[in-house]
Amino acid sequence: MNEDIAAVREDFPILQRHVGDEQLVYLDNAATTQTPTQVYDVFEEFYGTYNANVHRGIHTLSHEASVAYEEAHDRLAEFVGASGGREELVFTKNTTESINLVAYGVGLNELGPGDNVVTTEMEHHASLVTWQQVAKRTGAEVRFIRVDEDGHLDMDHAAELIDENTQLLSVVHISNVLGTVNPVAELAEVAHDRDALVFVDGAQAVPNRRVDVEEIDADFYAFSGHKMAGPTGIGCLYGKKHLLESMEPFLYGGEMIRHVTYEDSTWNRPPWKFEAGTPPIAEGIALAAAADYLDEVGMDTVEEREHELAQYALERLAERDDVETYGPSLGEDRSGLVAFNVDGLHGHDLSALLDERGIAVRAGDHCTQPLHDRLDIPGSVRASFYLYNTTEEIDLLLDAVDDARDELDDHLESNYHELVYEHYQNPQNAGGLSNPTFTKHSEETSCGDDGEFHVDVAEDGTIEEIAFESESCAVSSAVASILSERLAGMSLEDVAELDGYVDDLLEGTYPDIRRDCVVGPEEVICEAAREHVSGDGQTVLSAKS
Ligand code: PMP
Repeated sequence: MNEDIAAVREDFPILQRHVGDEQLVYLDNAATTQTPTQVYDVFEEFYGTYNANVHRGIHTLSHEASVAYEEAHDRLAEFVGASGGREELVFTKNTTESINLVAYGVGLNELGPGDNVVTTEMEHHASLVTWQQVAKRTGAEVRFIRVDEDGHLDMDHAAELIDENTQLLSVVHISNVLGTVNPVAELAEVAHDRDALVFVDGAQAVPNRRVDVEEIDADFYAFSGHKMAGPTGIGCLYGKKHLLESMEPFLYGGEMIRHVTYEDSTWNRPPWKFEAGTPPIAEGIALAAAADYLDEVGMDTVEEREHELAQYALERLAERDDVETYGPSLGEDRSGLVAFNVDGLHGHDLSALLDERGIAVRAGDHCTQPLHDRLDIPGSVRASFYLYNTTEEIDLLLDAVDDARDELDDHLESNYHELVYEHYQNPQNAGGLSNPTFTKHSEETSCGDDGEFHVDVAEDGTIEEIAFESESCAVSSAVASILSERLAGMSLEDVAELDGYVDDLLEGTYPDIRRDCVVGPEEVICEAAREHVSGDGQTVLSAKS
């Protein structure tokens, strides 16, 4: 670890913490980055000296808070190259809200049947779901630019899809799964040639490299504070001034108005027109401090560092035959994250085992279910790096992955009840039914549970066929398998009497299994929220079925 990184790490005291007995290795930065003291000190200063609401008081504290909050807008505008300052930079709650602001302001107001929104197959749900819903409400169509096998956008397909009916191109700058850096300026040019507006989701770009919204020629550009060494609860939307001026507000209320009568209201100028109610004042000021911090380190340094770390991780993962990585190949420009899978190891189990070593990664679909379908994988494990990570930490990750591969069977065998282990090895009724009478979804986050029972009910009210689809960890899938075996052939009424069935089966090894059963056409399966407690009394996993 060189001196620069050591100095940077000192700014992040959380990196010194332990998880159990292990030193924390934080590799979940694409979800949320850690915050340096320079940023969270702002909260102490704000609440200790000038906490007040903005724009509403003539008193000194309100004035000081207002000035700092307004200047924070200028600072963030400058950070992403917006020459119009605060009038082009709206504070929102996060990237998701920024996207919704555009979806309401432009999408719902401007789109109609015959129009289309062009987006990509690698979008985060934050934009994909939003445009999907806008299309449903307006009758417009959503089109998806193809992603090729190496995680790049098919630019010929983009040129085909963007046509004279395209009202908006919505593209993610950097994919949060593939790490692909999309040619957003090139795409913006194609879209502008067809008179379409351009929205860029920069949630994974602004934290990691220098972004210039004017060089890209984006009409709108969104990003989040908590992914760029800033606080949670604040995000930004850049918008060209004339567009923000002409756009309808997203939320109504105080602050965003100019004049109100009983009959009608007029709007404040941007950005305040889009910041209804009391805004995230301390968060905004702290976000400006995060921009200062990143500029102090240097965004080129951040980008270089992340590139090095991602390349190192890719190289080392490529040495393993049973590991598959996704996105652009070694040597190509990509951001500081690597998503991968290890043969035979479920991502949730792997990340639980890594957590035992103090290593924080993320497993699942990373809010990109359609992309995972496209890649034909249920999920992936993602290690994502930031300016304070080191190659030594990547070595620890890889050692832990290697050990996990060897340990998983032993771990399951020794930690879980024999029956759970057996069903994990040999799941019964796994898969879906094509036309079930009803389905019952279950989701509970502690071991990444996400599963669904499909149930066919016969005319006499008995369960004729039952199957489950599960993207959950081993123990959760095993419990689903046990339950499905038991429920097959039962009447719906009897299902309601099953309270404690799994507890009994496991002979008290898991004493904290709690279960609520509700009878009804859609609710016959027991809604179970259980903590599985191992023999030594420690909570090891939780599951729901
Ligand atoms: N877009 C991308 C590419 C992201 O990675 C994320 C966060 N994972 C979002 C949008 C949503 O960000 P937020 O949760 O801060 O709204």
